[in-house]
This record gives sequence, C-alpha cells and structure tokens, in this order.
Amino acid sequence: MSYVGPDFDPPQPRRPRRSPLVVALAALVPGALLGWAVYEAVGAPGDSGGAAVSASGSPSGSASAAPSGSASASARDDGKKPTAGTAPATSPSPTRSGAAAPGPLKGKVVVIDPGHNPGNFQHTAAINRQVDIGTNRKECDTTGTSTNSGYTEARFTLDVAHRLRDLLQQQGATVRLTQDGDRPYGPCVDERARIGNTAHADAVVSIHADGSAAGNRGFHVILPEAVHAGAADTRPIVGPSRDLGARIAGNFVRVTGSAPSNYVGDGTGLVTRKDLGGLNLSTVPKVFIECGNMRDSKDAALLTSGAWRQKAAQGISEGIVSFLRG
Ligand code: ZN
Repeated sequence: MSYVGPDFDPPQPRRPRRSPLVVALAALVPGALLGWAVYEAVGAPGDSGGAAVSASGSPSGSASAAPSGSASASARDDGKKPTAGTAPATSPSPTRSGAAAPGPLKGKVVVIDPGHNPGNFQHTAAINRQVDIGTNRKECDTTGTSTNSGYTEARFTLDVAHRLRDLLQQQGATVRLTQDGDRPYGPCVDERARIGNTAHADAVVSIHADGSAAGNRGFHVILPEAVHAGAADTRPIVGPSRDLGARIAGNFVRVTGSAPSNYVGDGTGLVTRKDLGGLNLSTVPKVFIECGNMRDSKDAALLTSGAWRQKAAQGISEGIVSFLRG
C-alpha cells in the first residue's frame, strides 16, 4: 500500500550488538555519553512518562492512516523559534538562499532531506513508481505517517528541516534541502540521494518520524549497511556515516532528553539497514533519524510541540557540527 514503503519496513531483527555500539559511542561522543548518563540519572526533563526500557516488541511498521483532511490545528506551530537564544549573539542572521555565513562550518556543505512531501498523498500513483536502489527496486517515495490527530510526518519533517537549516547556517554551513514543499511530490529516493551526492555534501541527514505501534517510544538513527550491488556501493561511507550517526544520537539525547528507541536498536538509538534507497545510493556520509513514534500518544505530544521540535533540530545540529569539526 502506498502508506507502507521504504521508510516503514520494519527494521530486520538484529543480533544483540550492544557492546560494539556502546564502544563506538564511547569512542566518538564522550560528551554525548555524559549527556546520556545525566539522562539516566535524572530522567527526561519534562517527560513525566519516562522511557520504558522493557518493551521489545517488533515495530508494526504499518502506518496506515491518512491525514484527516486538513492537518490538526493542535499541531500548529507554537512559535518558530520558541527557544530563542540558542545561537551565539554574534551570529549573523541566516539567509534563505543557503548562502554561508561566517562561522566554524564555513566551506562545509550540509544537505537536509525532509522525509516525504506534503503533496505525496495526492500523487500516490507517481510515488508508487518503482526506482532502482541498487540492491533492488522500490517505490519512488512514500506518503509517510501521521499522528492519530492528523499531524503528518511530511509537515513535521519540513518544520524540523527549517529549524535545522537556520541553526547550521548560523554556524556558517552551506545548507541545501532536497525538497521544501515546493514541488508537487517527492523527490524519489534515488533523486534524494543524488542531490546529496552532486552537492558533494560533507554530511546528509534525512529527517523522519516513525509510524510504529503505541507503546513503542523514542528516537533512532539509521545508518547505512555495507552494500555493493548495482548502482549502490556504500562501503566508503559506512564508517563516516556511523560516526555522524553516533554523534547525532548522543547530542539528540542530551538536548531533547528523549531516550533511544525502546523497540529497535537494542537501546543504543542506532540501527543499521540496507533496504533504504536514500542510504544505499549515497556516496557521501548520510544517516536517517526517526525522531520519535507518531503513533504513540506520548511521543506524539512531543513531535507536535514546536518547542520540542526546536530541541530536536538543536540536537541534530550539534551532532552534525561535532562531526564536521572532528
Ligand atoms: Zn518517514
């Protein structure tokens, strides 16, 4: 069905890999791990529900509800930048053109890929077209999921992408979006990868939120698995993408207070997959982040909050900055 596609295939069950992943995190993001330790000690700020750690059911992966007409008013932005003051006072205003400002990331190119497209619901035939992802053929794009109240993943991803773009431009990066709600649908996953490749991006992050079963909570970062088939050869980017993903995961924990997924990733917040065209076809360091589960009411309360989305963007931004500055 059109609502189930590349981004919603349940990740394959993984062998327990906690030790190497924790080691990787410890090696790469000690500051972030400190944040995680603080999180474990004091709990998630503002999250009275806490983070369940015992649930381990497999994700349903079946986000089947379309948005109910216009999106829910409850999900309207409650402020573009509710946590103003996160940028240095000396930072110049970001531009809308993607032009770089002076800053530590001057000369760096970051491509942000807002998952799906608000128009995909109206172009299901077009987005169901099969494209070559190297290992096999899959749908061009998918509609994405939504909260039970109708706030769509596509609106969420664009909002976080805009916040993230502003933060990265304040650091001097040149930022490009794969789509900005400015095209009827898509782009297809192969074009999304190509945009990062042709931009010679130093880092690419694809923004998503999951559509899993209620009770499944938390974020996870998806890393490319080593594949070499057809047009796909991720072997050169597996290492740097893991570094990028671990830094994003650690900073996401620290800034948002959200716990890593309780349903995939074995508690690490990191999952490796080889079934996503956007990763398989990338030749530059790239990860996906599923910021939370739109089908869980507690996660949905976070995802529909503009203040929380600003924190999410901040966490992702700081992970990227950490990666690009080495
Ligand atoms: Zn998605």
